[in-house]
Amino acid sequence: MVRIDNLPLYFLLLSSFLFYFACEKDDVFVEVESDLRTFPEVDERLWPFFESFELEAAERGVEVDLREAGISGEIRPIAEEHVAGRCSYIPNIISSGNVTVDTEFWDNSSSIFKEFIVFHELGHCYLNRDHREDADAQGACISLMRSGLGTCRDNYTSLSRKQYIDELFDPDSF
Ligand SMILES: [Zn+2]
Repeated sequence: MVRIDNLPLYFLLLSSFLFYFACEKDDVFVEVESDLRTFPEVDERLWPFFESFELEAAERGVEVDLREAGISGEIRPIAEEHVAGRCSYIPNIISSGNVTVDTEFWDNSSSIFKEFIVFHELGHCYLNRDHREDADAQGACISLMRSGLGTCRDNYTSLSRKQYIDELFDPDSF
């Protein structure tokens, strides 16, 4: 009798718990969704990297609003061999910047290398930075704005990315 009498209570508690948990989960989901930055002119796959570019800039005291700047972005095949990304813009024309990332590169690259390419192209398109080919004493590129045609060696990893992004947004680098 005890078991049977307790059973509905048990289910009531269980369902309350599930309900509570479901609500909590929904609340978290809604909160994340409302915080997600959107970039209407940009391929959705590039959004996390565009948002990250803005956040990394803000952490370094540089205000960046890619949506307001009208920077567009797409992922499509780039005909030239070994070209992973490109920034197209008309000098001195606001909102003319377009970032293109090569489809094949995108489909075969890790997240950190995607970030490298997107940040590099935004370095051109938004920050108006040119290439910088300097190397450190070990021959590693000191800037993610290296062209890939110089002699320095890429070293963009989860460990080194902070110093590269510091360099990217350092006003002395512009
Ligand atoms: Zn470049």
